[in-house]
Order: sequence, then structure tokens, then C-alpha cells
Amino acid sequence: MARASKHLLNDSIVVTVVDSASIYRESNRIHGLSAVGAAVLNRLLTFGIFLSQDLKDERGRLSLTLKGAFGNAVAAARAGGEVKGYLDVTDKERLDIPLSGDRADVAGAVGRVGSISVIKDFGLKEPYTGHCELVSGDLAGDFSLYLTVSEQKPSAVALGEYYEDGELKAAGGVFVQPLPNTDDFLITIVQDILRSFTDTGKILFDTKTTDGLIETYFGDFKVKKLEEYEPAYRCRCDETIEDVVRAMGRGEAVSTIIEQGKIEAVCSFCDRVYTFGAEDVIRIFKVES
Ligand SMILES: [Zn+2]
Repeated sequence: MARASKHLLNDSIVVTVVDSASIYRESNRIHGLSAVGAAVLNRLLTFGIFLSQDLKDERGRLSLTLKGAFGNAVAAARAGGEVKGYLDVTDKERLDIPLSGDRADVAGAVGRVGSISVIKDFGLKEPYTGHCELVSGDLAGDFSLYLTVSEQKPSAVALGEYYEDGELKAAGGVFVQPLPNTDDFLITIVQDILRSFTDTGKILFDTKTTDGLIETYFGDFKVKKLEEYEPAYRCRCDETIEDVVRAMGRGEAVSTIIEQGKIEAVCSFCDRVYTFGAEDVIRIFKVES
């Protein structure tokens, strides 16, 4: 079970810890990625789990796109940490980098040329859009810059995975955001703690739970838990897949049915294959007209 918990330190600094190991395993079960490919996607999903805190209800949608040397990674999130994602790989060799001991070389796969784009649709008015160029490629530095510059929320981010004999044992991240007017001294102390997170995957593994991590590393502060949720990998394409047929237009849908006897649509997020026959096409376009 994945978990995310949000804590307030000394009434001033908000720390969110995300344990996304089970999401890593689920997305890898669907997509069958290399270790570093799975790590890249999981870091984007972990960021989606964190950002989903901004979505207050069912109407909210979040989409994230990472462009890097390997290709693109796409993720989507809903309130409560419901996430899904996939990789669109253009340079496969970048994702063939083997694990170095217990770590995946995410920075090597992503490189330093590229960008992160975020769209937050709250289901009201215009969606919020944010964008940031890559700086470090490990994604922790990049997400931190995105939050600080694009969303104007000064943030520090640590991300990581931990493997034993090539098998994933822990994955996730830590997001630190001081509230406005936080004492500089306090910020320095927390920054120093986070600077010691040179191997976040191993820290997540050693501390076992999100609460355990807070207790071990931030236990000297006055800690108040603000929120806790259970993120999950979930795709609801069954609710929207007919839009794919609708987008083809009646003419093309009908001619595909005549030529091929059916229309096939594959969901990039969960690999489910949908088949539509003549009766589906009639039904879909009848409702429309
Ligand atoms: Zn799907």
C-alpha cells in the first residue's frame, strides 16, 4: 500500500513524505520497463501524488509532462493521490543504463536538456499551467525549481529508490515547503537535514514508514500531522475511451468498420485494449446527433 503523509513542523514548515513503492511495482507490471525507466516514471508519479494535494475534489485533474533525453514521461493525477502514467521512449539506450549497486541513474536517463510542464484543472474557470526547464535531471532538483519558480512556493525535494539484488525495496520522496514568514534559522536547519538525504531510497527503506521517516529525521521539531492519504495507480479509461471513437468522426469510424470490421483502441496508461464493432459506432454517434 502506498502512503503519503503531510506534517507541520514548529507551525512553520510543511513536510510531505510519499512512499510510492507499490505504485512503482504496479506501473512496472503494466509497462514492463527497465529499472531506470521505471524509476523515471515513478519520480514523476510521486510528484503527481504530492501535487494532487492541491486538487480538493473529484472535478480536479492534474497532468504532468517531462521531456528529457530518453523521450517523454506523461503522468496524470486526481485528488487523493490517484495516479497513472507512461513513457514515450525515443532513445531506448538511455533507459538501458544498468543499476549501479542499489541505485537507478535517473539523471543519466533524463539528462539536463528538457522541461517539466504541469496543468492543473480544478474543474472551474481556466486551468493553471506551469513550466520549467530542467536543471539537474535527477528530477528532485528540477521539481524543487519548478515549485520555487513556477508556483512561487520555495521548496526542497528529495527523491529516490532503493534496490537489493536488482529488486525494488523502497521508492518515494520528501517535499519540504516553509510557510511564508518562516524564521530563516529554522529553514537552515531543515535544509541541512535534507542535505543529508544523499540516498533517499535507502532512507525510505530504513525508516520503513512515512511516519517513521518524520520521527527519525524531524523528531526534534514539534510535529503535527496534517493529512494522510493512500495513493494508488488507477486508470479510468473505461469512462472516456469512447471519446477516441468520437474524435475519429463518424465518417472515419464507419469506414474503419467497413474496412477492418472493428475499431481497436489501446490505453497508453494501462495497456487495456478496447474493441468497438458496428453496433458501438452506431450507438456512439446516435447519442451525439
Ligand atoms: Zn487505461
